[in-house]
Amino acid sequence: MIQVKGYAAQSATSVLAPFSFERRQLGPKDILIDIAYCGICHSDIHQVKNEWGGSRYPMVPGHEIVGRVSKVGNQVNHFRVGDPAGVGCFVDSCRSCPSCKENEEQYCEGHLVSTYNNIEKDGKTPTFGGYSSKIVVDEDYALRIASELPLERIAPLLCAGVTTYSPLKQWNVERGTRVGILGLGGLGHMGVKLAVAMGAEVSVLSHSPHKEADARKLGAHHFISTQQSNLGEVFANHFDLILDTVSAPHDLNMYLSTVKKDGTMVLLGVPPESTKIAAFPLILKRRRLAGSLIGGIKETQEMLDFCAENSIGADVEVISALEINTAYERTLKGDVKYRFAIDCKTF
Ligand code: NAP
Ligand code: ZN
Ligand code: ZN
Repeated sequence: MIQVKGYAAQSATSVLAPFSFERRQLGPKDILIDIAYCGICHSDIHQVKNEWGGSRYPMVPGHEIVGRVSKVGNQVNHFRVGDPAGVGCFVDSCRSCPSCKENEEQYCEGHLVSTYNNIEKDGKTPTFGGYSSKIVVDEDYALRIASELPLERIAPLLCAGVTTYSPLKQWNVERGTRVGILGLGGLGHMGVKLAVAMGAEVSVLSHSPHKEADARKLGAHHFISTQQSNLGEVFANHFDLILDTVSAPHDLNMYLSTVKKDGTMVLLGVPPESTKIAAFPLILKRRRLAGSLIGGIKETQEMLDFCAENSIGADVEVISALEINTAYERTLKGDVKYRFAIDCKTF
């Protein structure tokens, strides 16, 4: 077995603390990655605090993983020792259901093995994530990194990047599409960069007026404060597509009325409590309310290559392992520009 150091939560109410564990020895198709950086996604916080239910402890969170390959199994084809590599939100899937065959493993109808807070296909080994020094992963579930940007700026692409890229592609965003990004956090700031790179006319809808200058620096064309109570009327029938990245409960109905006829509002954020949807905002303009989950391996690779071509990386604040708990508190307060990346050499 391979000895690994990391940080884990022992319960829904404990802070994260140092934790040593073992990873499997390499199988023929496995690669060993020495993790350089791991992003802190708000989903890590939801799961550590068991806000979605079903959390497993000890939990080593982290699914925005980048590092360098330090060992390869004898049947590995796509990675060599020294290559940069990434791991996102899952490390295996059933590989045989229709979704897996359509390269949409994230919607696997069998067993999607998430990078942490799950069990391997053997039915017993817990999965531990990227708040750690090393990870072993089947090369089919690892991503190649061609970008010239520093690795810490690539890490958040593995979740925040693909989670926003996938719906922008699914709903055919192109030059001139009017896109609204609701919530300017880790996902939101990637959504702005990606939608701008695709040529969209991008508005940030934010409950934090002080983020206006940042939104514009990120490339957004407009900034709309969601504090204004008549937003639904002022921007009625305005957007082709809204990506809702908000992590806390909020009223969706007001935002629905800002969507054009046949337009779509896509839920990406997963607030712990559900919200009421009124029928009229949907019915009156044949609007659609949809959801979207991360992206498949093929699409994640496409997104990484798109970001490499367009020099897109996340805006990150690099922290050491000792700062993880403070980073959680700061993320909850919206005090991060716009993603924390843990320096995994500090475990
Ligand atoms: P984040 O960095 O904390 O950003 C969330 C943003 O939501 C904040 O920056 C803030 O934007 C807004 N917000 C927070 N509290 C609010 C409140 N009380 N009222 C109104 N707005 C509030 O989180 P993230 O990492 O981007 O993740 C966002 C959500 O997406 C989380 O729920 C996460 O679990 C989920 N997620 C889903 C997927 C998926 O596959 N669908 C993947 C990853 C993450 P403003 O200050 O601009 O208003
Ligand atoms: Zn995530
Ligand atoms: Zn499957």
